[in-house]
Amino acid sequence: PSSGAPPSRPTTGSTAPPPAPRPPGATRRGPAPAPADRARLLRRFAADVDGHIEEQALLDVREAGHTIGNARWEAGNVRDLLDFAAGGVERLSGRQIPVAGGIDVTFLEPLGVIGVIAPWNFPLPIAAWGLAPALAAGNAVILKPAETTPLTALRLAELALEAGIPEHLFQVLPGRGAVAGDALVEHPGVAKIVFTGSTRVGKQIMAKCADRVKRVTLELGGKSPNIVFADADLEAAAAAAPMAFLDNTGQDCCARTRILVQRSAYDRFLELLAPGIESVVVGDPADEKTQMGPLISRAQLERVRSYVTDGLTTVRGAAPEGPGFWYPPTLVTDVDPTAPVATEEVFGPVAVVLPFEDEEDAVRLANATEYGLSGSLWTRDIGRALRVSRAVAAGNLSVNSHSSVRYSTPFGGYKQSGLGRELGPDALTAFTETKNVFISTEA
Ligand code: NAD
Repeated sequence: PSSGAPPSRPTTGSTAPPPAPRPPGATRRGPAPAPADRARLLRRFAADVDGHIEEQALLDVREAGHTIGNARWEAGNVRDLLDFAAGGVERLSGRQIPVAGGIDVTFLEPLGVIGVIAPWNFPLPIAAWGLAPALAAGNAVILKPAETTPLTALRLAELALEAGIPEHLFQVLPGRGAVAGDALVEHPGVAKIVFTGSTRVGKQIMAKCADRVKRVTLELGGKSPNIVFADADLEAAAAAAPMAFLDNTGQDCCARTRILVQRSAYDRFLELLAPGIESVVVGDPADEKTQMGPLISRAQLERVRSYVTDGLTTVRGAAPEGPGFWYPPTLVTDVDPTAPVATEEVFGPVAVVLPFEDEEDAVRLANATEYGLSGSLWTRDIGRALRVSRAVAAGNLSVNSHSSVRYSTPFGGYKQSGLGRELGPDALTAFTETKNVFISTEA
């Protein structure tokens, strides 16, 4: 932590009773601040993040290769998450339930220490999805960033300290997943794990958490469909499809990497789509005009290459030559729907295009995956939009758009895409335990 000054203690306002005297050391390892103070601290933290958006964005560009536009959005998203969570602190109330012979009340109590294990693809926002509501609900947080992206997380911890978040409530623990991440999973003092990453590791973590009945939220992979019906605005659907899987160089669990097109519109849609793939600006992520940067690492580049095997029919955009983990925007057509590129999460700038016959066939194809995170559908028929949205087994659907993540709406996966929900109106509740207390009025 860079700040040498001790964090200033916020006050509770003139009507609140004076805080009880704390024993020596209580400011370092004491309980969570009172709700109004907690909200104020989180707002101050949000303001501090807001004042350092450009700095965090540039760090993100250097560390993860994100385009500068995306990186600014990501840093701003952390500010918004903190503000949103701050608004929930004083609204996090239990209930009073009518019962015979007394009064029944519930308390939403903090769980304790939350271990947030974050991935490298959106290091800051995904860390904050866990961090902000967990702190707001009165917990302490230990954040384990991914091996390749610790810097923005460490800087975030400094900003938290500067904002007055007590040191014992938020710590960053960089290190290898199998060491530092596993230590959080195994530690009896950690009450809940919030994990985002691969389905393989997620399953291991869930199994280990089961041993202790430790709470766990999992945000895992995806192979999300983008369903284009013949009655859609094909121009709009084709214009939106490229960045729906190329954003963040395809390293996005919500990437719409299975483009399903009704057969009667298939040829026309491909004609409209191909120029959009070929014209994506790939290059230096610090350049404001760049739409897509490099992949995160050589390992990720090799992984993406392994999926686009010789003999596949492709439409490709351009990518820089020379040093860097570059891979061009790639569309795979005429592919067997059971091929690995059509079924597994590539996590790179690669999508497949598959034809379907009718609504029933579209839903069947969309659901023919172990994943169920996101999906989009394009149609002018409102009845169909609702029917298909309900029939696709995924947590986040969008109609005539590719939006899926907002801090104010719930996010999470069906099937092997995850367990539990983050964000949205119930975000804080996920970091509490409900306690029921009955008080007899007849004693
Ligand atoms: P990963 O699952 O190995 O890593 C994610 C996080 O978990 C990192 O912080 C890592 O250090 C930690 N971790 C790894 N092993 C652990 C263990 N045994 N115990 C506790 N923590 C552990 O993911 P990866 O290797 O970085 O990426 C591999 C693939 O995972 C990607 O190609 C992609 O398909 C998928 N992925 C998905 C998301 C997503 O948002 N859903 C994010 C990142 C990666």
